[in-house]
Amino acid sequence: MGHIENLRNVPFFNYPFVFTQHEKELTDLIIGIGRRGAFILQQELEDFERNLAAYTDAKYAIGVANGTDALIIALRAAGIGGDDEVVFASHTYVATAAAIHFSGAVPVPVECGHDHMIDVDAVAKAITAKTRAIMPTQLNGRTCDMDALQTLADKHGLLIIEDAAQGLGSRFKGKYAGSIGLVGTISFYPAKTLGSLGDGGAILTNDEEMYTKMNLLRDHGRDIEGEVVGWGLNSRLDNLQAAILDFKLSHYDNEVERRRQIASLYQADLEMLDTLLLPPAPGSEPDHFDVFQNYEIEADCRDELQVFLRKNGIGSAVQWGGKPVHKLSNLGLEHINLPFTEKMFQRCLMLPMNTSMSDDDVHYVSKTIRRFYLS
Ligand SMILES: *Cc1c(COP(=O)(O)O)cnc(C)c1O
Repeated sequence: MGHIENLRNVPFFNYPFVFTQHEKELTDLIIGIGRRGAFILQQELEDFERNLAAYTDAKYAIGVANGTDALIIALRAAGIGGDDEVVFASHTYVATAAAIHFSGAVPVPVECGHDHMIDVDAVAKAITAKTRAIMPTQLNGRTCDMDALQTLADKHGLLIIEDAAQGLGSRFKGKYAGSIGLVGTISFYPAKTLGSLGDGGAILTNDEEMYTKMNLLRDHGRDIEGEVVGWGLNSRLDNLQAAILDFKLSHYDNEVERRRQIASLYQADLEMLDTLLLPPAPGSEPDHFDVFQNYEIEADCRDELQVFLRKNGIGSAVQWGGKPVHKLSNLGLEHINLPFTEKMFQRCLMLPMNTSMSDDDVHYVSKTIRRFYLS
Protein backbone atom coordinates (compact mmCIF):
# COMPACT_ATOMS: atom_id res chain seq x y z
CA MET A 1 0.00 0.00 0.00
CA GLY A 2 2.64 2.47 -1.13
CA HIS A 3 0.22 5.33 -1.65
CA ILE A 4 -0.36 5.75 2.10
CA GLU A 5 3.20 6.89 2.73
CA ASN A 6 2.94 9.01 -0.44
CA LEU A 7 0.12 11.09 1.06
CA ARG A 8 1.12 14.75 1.14
CA ASN A 9 -0.48 17.99 2.12
CA VAL A 10 -0.28 20.57 -0.67
CA PRO A 11 -2.33 23.63 0.31
CA PHE A 12 -3.65 25.84 -2.47
CA PHE A 13 -1.74 28.79 -1.01
CA ASN A 14 0.66 29.14 1.90
CA TYR A 15 0.00 32.51 3.58
CA PRO A 16 2.66 32.29 6.34
CA PHE A 17 5.29 31.74 3.62
CA VAL A 18 4.69 35.34 2.38
CA PHE A 19 6.45 36.32 5.62
CA THR A 20 8.59 33.32 6.60
CA GLN A 21 10.30 33.07 3.18
CA HIS A 22 12.31 36.18 4.13
CA GLU A 23 11.56 36.40 7.86
CA LYS A 24 14.95 37.75 8.97
CA GLU A 25 15.21 40.48 6.33
CA LEU A 26 11.58 41.57 6.72
CA THR A 27 11.83 41.68 10.52
CA ASP A 28 14.94 43.87 10.27
CA LEU A 29 13.13 46.20 7.86
CA ILE A 30 10.12 46.51 10.13
CA ILE A 31 12.30 47.24 13.19
CA GLY A 32 14.30 49.88 11.31
CA ILE A 33 11.25 51.72 10.02
CA GLY A 34 9.40 51.42 13.31
CA ARG A 35 12.29 52.97 15.23
CA ARG A 36 12.49 55.84 12.72
CA GLY A 37 8.72 56.35 12.79
CA ALA A 38 8.76 56.51 8.99
CA PHE A 39 5.21 55.37 8.30
CA ILE A 40 3.56 57.57 5.63
CA LEU A 41 4.97 58.97 2.34
CA GLN A 42 8.60 58.35 3.22
CA GLN A 43 11.82 57.47 1.39
CA GLU A 44 11.06 53.74 1.09
CA LEU A 45 7.86 54.49 -0.83
CA GLU A 46 9.73 56.76 -3.24
CA ASP A 47 12.41 54.11 -3.71
CA PHE A 48 9.85 51.41 -4.38
CA GLU A 49 7.95 53.60 -6.86
CA ARG A 50 11.16 54.32 -8.74
CA ASN A 51 12.22 50.66 -8.79
CA LEU A 52 8.77 49.43 -9.80
CA ALA A 53 8.65 51.92 -12.69
CA ALA A 54 12.12 50.80 -13.80
CA TYR A 55 11.16 47.11 -13.54
CA THR A 56 8.06 47.56 -15.73
CA ASP A 57 9.61 50.08 -18.17
CA ALA A 58 6.89 52.54 -17.12
CA LYS A 59 7.70 56.23 -16.78
CA TYR A 60 5.83 56.58 -13.47
CA ALA A 61 4.64 54.35 -10.64
CA ILE A 62 2.44 55.44 -7.73
CA GLY A 63 1.95 53.33 -4.61
CA VAL A 64 -1.66 53.17 -3.41
CA ALA A 65 -3.64 51.39 -0.69
CA ASN A 66 -4.77 48.43 -2.84
CA GLY A 67 -5.40 47.29 -6.39
CA THR A 68 -9.07 48.29 -6.33
CA ASP A 69 -8.32 51.88 -5.31
CA ALA A 70 -5.72 51.91 -8.08
CA LEU A 71 -8.50 51.24 -10.63
CA ILE A 72 -10.87 53.79 -9.10
CA ILE A 73 -8.17 56.47 -9.12
CA ALA A 74 -7.20 55.64 -12.72
CA LEU A 75 -10.80 55.90 -13.94
CA ARG A 76 -11.39 59.12 -12.02
CA ALA A 77 -8.19 60.71 -13.35
CA ALA A 78 -9.18 59.70 -16.89
CA GLY A 79 -12.45 61.58 -16.40
CA ILE A 80 -14.62 58.49 -16.78
CA GLY A 81 -18.06 58.57 -15.15
CA GLY A 82 -21.63 59.66 -15.86
CA ASP A 83 -23.18 57.64 -18.71
CA ASP A 84 -19.84 56.32 -19.90
CA GLU A 85 -19.60 52.62 -20.62
CA VAL A 86 -16.47 50.64 -19.82
CA VAL A 87 -15.97 47.18 -21.38
CA PHE A 88 -14.25 44.42 -19.39
CA ALA A 89 -14.07 40.60 -19.42
CA SER A 90 -16.53 38.93 -17.05
CA HIS A 91 -13.80 36.44 -16.08
CA THR A 92 -12.24 38.87 -13.61
CA TYR A 93 -12.44 39.84 -9.96
CA VAL A 94 -15.53 41.80 -8.91
CA ALA A 95 -13.13 44.68 -8.14
CA THR A 96 -12.71 45.45 -11.86
CA ALA A 97 -16.43 46.01 -12.25
CA ALA A 98 -16.79 47.67 -8.83
CA ALA A 99 -14.20 50.29 -9.78
CA ILE A 100 -16.21 51.10 -12.92
CA HIS A 101 -19.41 51.21 -10.86
CA PHE A 102 -17.96 53.55 -8.23
CA SER A 103 -16.56 55.87 -10.89
CA GLY A 104 -20.22 56.34 -11.84
CA ALA A 105 -19.81 54.62 -15.21
CA VAL A 106 -21.59 51.52 -16.52
CA PRO A 107 -19.70 48.18 -16.39
CA VAL A 108 -20.18 46.19 -19.63
CA PRO A 109 -19.00 42.57 -19.23
CA VAL A 110 -17.93 40.53 -22.28
CA GLU A 111 -16.67 37.04 -23.09
CA CYS A 112 -13.17 35.71 -22.66
CA GLY A 113 -11.45 33.52 -25.25
CA HIS A 114 -9.80 30.10 -25.16
CA ASP A 115 -6.77 31.41 -23.24
CA HIS A 116 -9.23 32.94 -20.70
CA MET A 117 -8.18 36.50 -21.67
CA ILE A 118 -10.64 39.15 -22.91
CA ASP A 119 -12.06 38.30 -26.37
CA VAL A 120 -11.22 41.22 -28.67
CA ASP A 121 -14.08 40.41 -31.08
CA ALA A 122 -16.51 40.43 -28.17
CA VAL A 123 -15.17 43.84 -27.13
CA ALA A 124 -15.72 45.14 -30.69
CA LYS A 125 -19.34 43.96 -30.62
CA ALA A 126 -19.97 45.61 -27.23
CA ILE A 127 -18.86 49.10 -28.33
CA THR A 128 -21.61 51.73 -28.45
CA ALA A 129 -21.68 55.52 -28.77
CA LYS A 130 -21.29 55.66 -24.98
CA THR A 131 -18.20 53.47 -24.69
CA ARG A 132 -15.25 55.41 -23.29
CA ALA A 133 -12.73 52.78 -22.26
CA ILE A 134 -11.68 49.14 -22.40
CA MET A 135 -10.44 47.57 -19.17
CA PRO A 136 -8.69 44.29 -19.99
CA THR A 137 -7.66 42.07 -17.07
CA GLN A 138 -4.12 40.72 -17.39
CA LEU A 139 -5.40 37.48 -15.91
CA ASN A 140 -3.48 34.63 -14.28
CA GLY A 141 -0.14 36.36 -14.90
CA ARG A 142 -0.62 36.73 -18.66
CA THR A 143 -0.85 39.86 -20.81
CA CYS A 144 -3.55 39.84 -23.48
CA ASP A 145 -3.03 40.76 -27.15
CA MET A 146 -2.53 44.46 -26.57
CA ASP A 147 -1.91 45.20 -30.28
CA ALA A 148 -5.38 43.99 -31.25
CA LEU A 149 -6.96 45.89 -28.35
CA GLN A 150 -5.04 49.09 -29.13
CA THR A 151 -6.05 48.93 -32.82
CA LEU A 152 -9.68 48.60 -31.77
CA ALA A 153 -9.36 51.37 -29.18
CA ASP A 154 -7.73 53.74 -31.70
CA LYS A 155 -10.43 53.03 -34.26
CA HIS A 156 -13.15 54.09 -31.80
CA GLY A 157 -11.24 56.71 -29.80
CA LEU A 158 -11.28 54.65 -26.57
CA LEU A 159 -8.90 54.64 -23.62
CA ILE A 160 -7.28 51.45 -22.35
CA ILE A 161 -6.91 50.99 -18.60
CA GLU A 162 -5.25 47.68 -17.76
CA ASP A 163 -6.27 45.75 -14.68
CA ALA A 164 -2.84 44.20 -14.27
CA ALA A 165 -3.50 43.21 -10.63
CA GLN A 166 -2.37 39.66 -11.55
CA GLY A 167 0.09 40.61 -14.26
CA LEU A 168 3.26 42.09 -12.74
CA GLY A 169 6.23 41.06 -14.86
CA SER A 170 4.20 39.43 -17.63
CA ARG A 171 4.80 40.76 -21.14
CA PHE A 172 3.25 40.96 -24.56
CA LYS A 173 5.81 41.47 -27.35
CA GLY A 174 8.32 42.53 -24.69
CA LYS A 175 6.05 45.17 -23.14
CA TYR A 176 5.16 44.83 -19.48
CA ALA A 177 1.59 44.41 -18.26
CA GLY A 178 0.37 47.66 -16.77
CA SER A 179 2.75 49.83 -18.79
CA ILE A 180 0.98 49.53 -22.16
CA GLY A 181 -2.40 51.26 -21.82
CA LEU A 182 -2.98 54.84 -20.66
CA VAL A 183 -2.80 53.48 -17.10
CA GLY A 184 -2.22 50.04 -15.58
CA THR A 185 -2.85 48.88 -12.03
CA ILE A 186 -1.11 46.28 -9.85
CA SER A 187 -2.24 44.55 -6.64
CA PHE A 188 0.08 43.45 -3.84
CA TYR A 189 -2.57 41.43 -1.97
CA PRO A 190 -0.58 38.73 -0.11
CA ALA A 191 -1.51 35.93 -2.53
CA LYS A 192 -0.44 37.94 -5.58
CA THR A 193 2.94 37.18 -7.21
CA LEU A 194 4.46 40.17 -5.38
CA GLY A 195 2.65 39.96 -2.05
CA SER A 196 2.77 42.46 0.81
CA LEU A 197 1.98 41.71 4.46
CA GLY A 198 -1.50 43.15 4.01
CA ASP A 199 -3.12 45.29 1.33
CA GLY A 200 -1.22 47.30 -1.25
CA GLY A 201 -1.40 48.42 -4.86
CA ALA A 202 0.26 50.53 -7.52
CA ILE A 203 -0.59 52.52 -10.63
CA LEU A 204 1.68 52.65 -13.69
CA THR A 205 1.55 55.24 -16.47
CA ASN A 206 3.70 56.91 -19.11
CA ASP A 207 1.42 59.97 -19.21
CA GLU A 208 2.66 62.93 -17.18
CA GLU A 209 -0.75 64.58 -16.85
CA MET A 210 -2.34 61.35 -15.60
CA TYR A 211 0.56 60.88 -13.20
CA THR A 212 0.06 64.33 -11.69
CA LYS A 213 -3.70 63.84 -11.32
CA MET A 214 -3.38 60.36 -9.77
CA ASN A 215 -0.70 61.51 -7.34
CA LEU A 216 -3.09 64.18 -6.06
CA LEU A 217 -6.02 61.76 -5.93
CA ARG A 218 -4.22 59.26 -3.70
CA ASP A 219 -3.30 61.89 -1.08
CA HIS A 220 -6.25 64.19 -0.28
CA GLY A 221 -5.71 66.29 -3.42
CA ARG A 222 -2.44 67.62 -1.99
CA ASP A 223 0.42 68.73 -4.22
CA ILE A 224 4.15 68.33 -3.47
CA GLU A 225 4.06 71.29 -1.08
CA GLY A 226 1.19 69.69 0.82
CA GLU A 227 -1.32 72.26 -0.41
CA VAL A 228 -4.81 71.03 -1.30
CA VAL A 229 -5.45 71.81 -4.96
CA GLY A 230 -8.55 69.64 -5.54
CA TRP A 231 -10.62 66.75 -4.21
CA GLY A 232 -8.73 63.61 -3.27
CA LEU A 233 -8.86 60.34 -1.37
CA ASN A 234 -6.65 58.79 1.26
CA SER A 235 -5.17 55.87 -0.65
CA ARG A 236 -1.46 55.85 0.07
CA LEU A 237 0.71 52.74 0.13
CA ASP A 238 2.08 52.40 3.68
CA ASN A 239 5.81 53.07 3.86
CA LEU A 240 6.29 49.78 5.76
CA GLN A 241 4.60 47.82 2.96
CA ALA A 242 6.58 49.76 0.37
CA ALA A 243 9.85 48.78 2.08
CA ILE A 244 8.77 45.13 2.22
CA LEU A 245 7.70 45.21 -1.44
CA ASP A 246 10.90 46.94 -2.53
CA PHE A 247 12.92 44.18 -0.87
CA LYS A 248 10.77 41.49 -2.50
CA LEU A 249 10.97 43.21 -5.88
CA SER A 250 14.74 42.75 -5.81
CA HIS A 251 14.08 38.97 -5.63
CA TYR A 252 11.12 38.99 -7.99
CA ASP A 253 12.90 37.44 -10.97
CA ASN A 254 13.44 34.31 -8.85
CA GLU A 255 9.73 34.25 -7.98
CA VAL A 256 8.77 34.44 -11.65
CA GLU A 257 11.36 31.88 -12.72
CA ARG A 258 10.17 29.36 -10.12
CA ARG A 259 6.52 29.83 -11.11
CA ARG A 260 7.43 29.19 -14.75
CA GLN A 261 9.35 26.07 -13.70
CA ILE A 262 6.30 24.77 -11.82
CA ALA A 263 4.14 25.46 -14.90
CA SER A 264 6.61 23.51 -17.04
CA LEU A 265 6.49 20.58 -14.61
CA TYR A 266 2.66 20.54 -14.71
CA GLN A 267 2.83 20.73 -18.51
CA ALA A 268 5.19 17.75 -18.78
CA ASP A 269 3.22 15.70 -16.23
CA LEU A 270 -0.29 16.45 -17.54
CA GLU A 271 -0.11 17.13 -21.27
CA MET A 272 -0.96 13.51 -22.12
CA LEU A 273 -4.43 13.86 -20.55
CA ASP A 274 -7.03 14.85 -23.16
CA THR A 275 -9.54 15.40 -20.33
CA LEU A 276 -7.67 18.61 -19.45
CA LEU A 277 -6.97 21.92 -21.16
CA LEU A 278 -3.73 23.40 -19.82
CA PRO A 279 -2.64 27.05 -20.04
CA PRO A 280 -0.01 27.80 -22.71
CA ALA A 281 3.34 26.40 -21.55
CA PRO A 282 6.16 28.84 -20.68
CA GLY A 283 8.13 29.68 -23.80
CA SER A 284 5.56 28.14 -26.17
CA GLU A 285 4.44 31.47 -27.69
CA PRO A 286 6.97 34.08 -28.82
CA ASP A 287 4.64 37.07 -28.11
CA HIS A 288 3.88 36.07 -24.53
CA PHE A 289 5.91 35.93 -21.33
CA ASP A 290 3.63 34.65 -18.55
CA VAL A 291 4.34 34.83 -14.80
CA PHE A 292 1.70 32.29 -13.67
CA GLN A 293 -0.10 34.18 -10.93
CA ASN A 294 -2.43 31.19 -11.23
CA TYR A 295 -2.29 27.85 -12.99
CA GLU A 296 -5.83 27.71 -14.32
CA ILE A 297 -6.81 24.58 -16.22
CA GLU A 298 -10.07 23.32 -17.67
CA ALA A 299 -11.07 19.81 -16.60
CA ASP A 300 -13.74 17.22 -17.43
CA CYS A 301 -15.70 16.26 -14.26
CA ARG A 302 -14.18 19.31 -12.56
CA ASP A 303 -16.20 19.06 -9.32
CA GLU A 304 -15.39 15.37 -8.84
CA LEU A 305 -11.73 16.04 -9.55
CA GLN A 306 -11.70 18.79 -6.93
CA VAL A 307 -13.20 16.45 -4.31
CA PHE A 308 -10.65 13.73 -5.21
CA LEU A 309 -7.79 16.22 -4.85
CA ARG A 310 -9.11 17.37 -1.47
CA LYS A 311 -9.31 13.76 -0.23
CA ASN A 312 -5.66 13.42 -1.19
CA GLY A 313 -4.58 16.52 0.73
CA ILE A 314 -4.44 18.89 -2.25
CA GLY A 315 -6.05 22.33 -2.25
CA SER A 316 -7.50 23.74 -5.46
CA ALA A 317 -9.93 26.57 -6.23
CA VAL A 318 -12.39 27.85 -8.80
CA GLN A 319 -11.51 31.49 -9.37
CA TRP A 320 -13.75 34.24 -7.93
CA GLY A 321 -15.66 31.73 -5.79
CA GLY A 322 -17.00 29.98 -8.90
CA LYS A 323 -18.85 32.73 -10.80
CA PRO A 324 -17.98 35.28 -13.46
CA VAL A 325 -18.83 38.87 -12.51
CA HIS A 326 -22.11 38.99 -14.48
CA LYS A 327 -23.53 36.09 -12.45
CA LEU A 328 -22.79 37.58 -9.00
CA SER A 329 -25.83 38.57 -6.95
CA ASN A 330 -27.34 42.04 -6.88
CA LEU A 331 -24.90 43.77 -9.21
CA GLY A 332 -27.60 44.33 -11.83
CA LEU A 333 -25.75 42.28 -14.45
CA GLU A 334 -27.46 38.89 -14.07
CA HIS A 335 -29.69 39.41 -17.14
CA ILE A 336 -26.58 39.27 -19.34
CA ASN A 337 -25.71 35.98 -21.05
CA LEU A 338 -22.13 35.09 -21.92
CA PRO A 339 -22.38 31.42 -22.97
CA PHE A 340 -18.68 30.76 -23.54
CA THR A 341 -17.66 32.19 -20.16
CA GLU A 342 -20.52 30.42 -18.37
CA LYS A 343 -19.59 27.05 -19.88
CA MET A 344 -15.94 27.63 -19.10
CA PHE A 345 -16.86 28.23 -15.45
CA GLN A 346 -18.20 24.67 -15.25
CA ARG A 347 -14.73 23.43 -16.19
CA CYS A 348 -12.08 25.83 -14.83
CA LEU A 349 -9.93 25.00 -11.82
CA MET A 350 -6.78 26.46 -10.33
CA LEU A 351 -4.09 24.02 -9.18
CA PRO A 352 -1.63 24.95 -6.41
CA MET A 353 0.89 27.45 -7.85
CA ASN A 354 3.28 29.13 -5.44
CA THR A 355 6.96 29.13 -4.62
CA SER A 356 6.57 27.29 -1.32
CA MET A 357 5.97 24.11 -3.40
CA SER A 358 8.72 21.59 -4.05
CA ASP A 359 9.08 19.68 -7.32
CA ASP A 360 7.81 16.63 -5.43
CA ASP A 361 4.68 18.55 -4.42
CA VAL A 362 4.01 19.39 -8.07
CA HIS A 363 4.58 15.77 -9.17
CA TYR A 364 2.27 14.59 -6.38
CA VAL A 365 -0.52 16.89 -7.61
CA SER A 366 -0.02 15.68 -11.21
CA LYS A 367 0.14 12.02 -10.18
CA THR A 368 -3.08 12.40 -8.22
CA ILE A 369 -4.84 13.99 -11.22
CA ARG A 370 -3.62 11.18 -13.49
CA ARG A 371 -4.85 8.66 -10.97
CA PHE A 372 -8.30 10.33 -11.02
CA TYR A 373 -8.68 10.04 -14.80
CA LEU A 374 -6.77 6.85 -15.57
CA SER A 375 -7.87 4.47 -12.81
C1 LIG B 1 -6.58 41.05 -6.75
C2 LIG B 1 -7.30 41.67 -7.89
C3 LIG B 1 -7.87 42.96 -7.82
C4 LIG B 1 -7.98 43.75 -6.56
O1 LIG B 1 -6.80 44.01 -5.91
P1 LIG B 1 -6.86 44.38 -4.34
O2 LIG B 1 -5.45 44.78 -4.06
O3 LIG B 1 -7.28 43.15 -3.61
O4 LIG B 1 -7.81 45.51 -4.19
C5 LIG B 1 -8.42 43.49 -8.96
N1 LIG B 1 -8.47 42.80 -10.11
C6 LIG B 1 -7.97 41.55 -10.21
C7 LIG B 1 -8.01 40.85 -11.53
C8 LIG B 1 -7.38 40.94 -9.10
O5 LIG B 1 -6.92 39.70 -9.21
